[in-house]
Parts: sequence; structure tokens; C-alpha cells
Amino acid sequence: MELLLERKKVKSALGKSNLPGLDYTINPYIGCSHGCIYCYARLYCDARIAKNWGKIVVVKENIAETLLKEIGRRKRGVVGLSTITDPYQSIEAKERITREVLRILLENGFKVSIQTKSDLVLRDLDLLFEKKEIVDVGFTITTLEDRIAELIEPNAPKPSARVKALEKISGEGIKTWIFLGPIIPEISEKSFEEIVEIAKATNSLLYYDKYRVKPFMSGYAKELAEKARRTDWKEIAERIKGLCIAKGVEFTSGFGDL
Ligand code: SF4
Repeated sequence: MELLLERKKVKSALGKSNLPGLDYTINPYIGCSHGCIYCYARLYCDARIAKNWGKIVVVKENIAETLLKEIGRRKRGVVGLSTITDPYQSIEAKERITREVLRILLENGFKVSIQTKSDLVLRDLDLLFEKKEIVDVGFTITTLEDRIAELIEPNAPKPSARVKALEKISGEGIKTWIFLGPIIPEISEKSFEEIVEIAKATNSLLYYDKYRVKPFMSGYAKELAEKARRTDWKEIAERIKGLCIAKGVEFTSGFGDL
């Protein structure tokens, strides 16, 4: 896939968050090369990036310096890294902006909650391990079938790689969680049991959320949206809860009950 990379300078780094458990958000990039077909983050980007979702990424090239300048006047709190892009999308291997942001936040006493689909987060295990009491790492897993994931999350690392990274990070004593969402109709269900087992084995909290139908959805995403409309989400939620209770896994619905 041809990726168009752009750069911009920003005047602020931390944004206020309304998401549960987060005081701030920080997004080192605009757009996300993982290009998930259902991704709602495009709703928060300009029309050109949204229309070419997954193909244009803007690097906020001075975000680390900006963060350093503003951090002194910010009350300490929990920072979500990130909420509208994947902080460990592939360009991060070269840019290393997420790493710098993470280092600055942790060194200055902010708690950091990472959400990613990428095993590139393992590169920063040194920082995570050093500050493990103020950091948590969550992996989004919608299916455990690598071949199916390629259809819906075309440029993201395979679920099998995410699981290995999750196991490694949890094995280092760092708090972990799994985001089972959006639940892909007829697809995610096949992995429910195994995902709950992985949550148990890694002592991870399990968040779950349904597939939310949005007007931008087209092609396969729209087909899934039709299935989502016909899905009995209450039954799905009950099934997930039942599995978690049976295995002793802590769970919570990501954004209100299904
Ligand atoms: S990894 Fe997250 S932010 Fe990136 S395209 Fe997929 S859902 Fe969107």
C-alpha cells in the first residue's frame, strides 16, 4: 500500500478527554495506516484524510517539544495514548515520536494508558517496565483469525502477533487489557472463548463493544453493518459476560451497556 506521509507542527499536545478513565488524550499522528474498514476515528479527521482512510498519515513532528513546554502547567492525570490513531502504526518504527511522548509523560508523573493493535509497542518495553506502576497496555482484538483480520484491519499486525505481545508485556508484570471491539458480526463470536481464555492467562481486563453502524461505511463494512442491525447484542453481551464469569475474568462494556 502506498502511504502518503505529511508533517505538521502543533501548538498543543494534550487534549482533554471525556472517555471513561482518561483525563487527557494525546495523538502523535493524524490518520492511521492500519486502515481498519470500520474505524470511527475518521469521523474526527478532515474530509480528505477520512475519504482516503489508511492512506494518508500526518506526523505531528513537534508534539514531543510542545508536550515538554506545556506539561508544567498541566495537572497530573491519566493520558490515553492514543484515542484517534494507533500510536504504534508502522511509521512509528522510524519516527519514534510515540516513544518520546511516552518517555516525557512517564518521567513527569503522568499515568499512561496505551491502546494499540501493534506489537511494535514491545520496542518500548524498557520504558514500560521502568514505570510499570503508572502504565497499562491494551490490545484491540476483534478476531483471532489472522486471515479474516486481513480483510477488516488490512495493515495492522496480525492478531497472533498482538497476542504474543500481550503475553510478553503481561509476563513483565505490566497491567494489560483487551479491547474486544468492535465485535464484528458473525466473525468475532468464533473467537470469544479463546479471547476470554487469553484474558484469563494474561490477567487482563476485558472491554467489549458492539459494531456501531456509521454512515461512512461502504463495501464490506456496510455488509457488516447490515448484519449488525440484525444482531441481538443483548444476547452477545450475555454470552461474553457468562464466559468471563465462568473463567473469573474481569469485564466491562467499553461504552455503556450493549
Ligand atoms: S488501528 Fe485503530 S485508529 Fe487505526 S485504523 Fe484501526 S481502528 Fe482506526
